[in-house]
Amino acid sequence: MILILLINLKLMEEISIRETIEPLNRSTLRNALKINGTVRSYFSEFLRNMGYLEIPPVIYSTATDPLNHPVFDTSFEYYGQKYSITKSMIFHKQISVQYLGKIFTFSPNVRLETSDKASTGRHLSEFTQIDIECLNATRDDMISLAENMISGVIAEVKNKNSQDLTDLKRILNQPEKPFVKIRYEDALSQHGKHFEDVLSAKMSDPFWIIDIPVNEREFYDREDPENEGYLMDMDLIYPEGFGEAISGGEREFEIEKILQRVALKGQSPDQFKWFIEAASGGLLPSAGFGIGIERLVRYLCGFPKIEMVTPFPKVPGKRSI
Ligand code: ASP
Ligand code: MG
Repeated sequence: MILILLINLKLMEEISIRETIEPLNRSTLRNALKINGTVRSYFSEFLRNMGYLEIPPVIYSTATDPLNHPVFDTSFEYYGQKYSITKSMIFHKQISVQYLGKIFTFSPNVRLETSDKASTGRHLSEFTQIDIECLNATRDDMISLAENMISGVIAEVKNKNSQDLTDLKRILNQPEKPFVKIRYEDALSQHGKHFEDVLSAKMSDPFWIIDIPVNEREFYDREDPENEGYLMDMDLIYPEGFGEAISGGEREFEIEKILQRVALKGQSPDQFKWFIEAASGGLLPSAGFGIGIERLVRYLCGFPKIEMVTPFPKVPGKRSI
């Protein structure tokens, strides 16, 4: 009996692994990877031309992004010190620009999302974001940089990957700048709590959600000194139902304010020790944002599911290799 069970389990495993690698054979994956290549080259060159320095990714650290939603823990101990796998390089960005001025990185992130994210079509537990930060920049500076990057990459893909778009039957709209900006509270009162999905489905160009309430985002996004309770931040949402593209904003940079915001979240400063220590010496203001690469490629390709863009997708709640 036990032997039969073991054999069955083994068979299930084999079938499941075969299923897992089957997408490698899809022609749509090849299209997506070519578009992914265009996106990476375009962003790298664009940012370098603007004076941004590429820094290598950080895969694990003693402090990482606390995020604003629960995920499974990825911490481990190594030589008596506790580390976490990077959820985002937010702290490394904010500290490195103090010395380097303008930086970007293609940052692999692990966010072990819960299974309710399995069928959103836009969550992977392992993904890459291009993470950008600029010293002495404002939210408006970052909004216009992001708009130039998004509309620029759409034009580039339409030009360089026209055959891939034809294969995928994808008609990509070239958005007009500046993108529409909608205040969080207005979106909420007009479209209810699922406003992001409602608006994303309705719109035909990407649009911004701005002035997000403090408790809806992490402690590091800066509270607006002229509009207490709201952040100097922004989310970009793709049209046609593709959902969230970017999050970013100005950063809290005064140590008293940082500690106050950490406390407001019920977090302990010990969780972010190296960052808090570095910030205690005084920080200059900065702003930045992150663009999820797989989400962008999914949008460009017009795919129903994000797992179609990558050969070894990690879908929340599902087995992967
Ligand atoms: N990297 C941040 C995130 O993952 C985005 C940002 O720059 O604020 O949410
Ligand atoms: Mg975020």
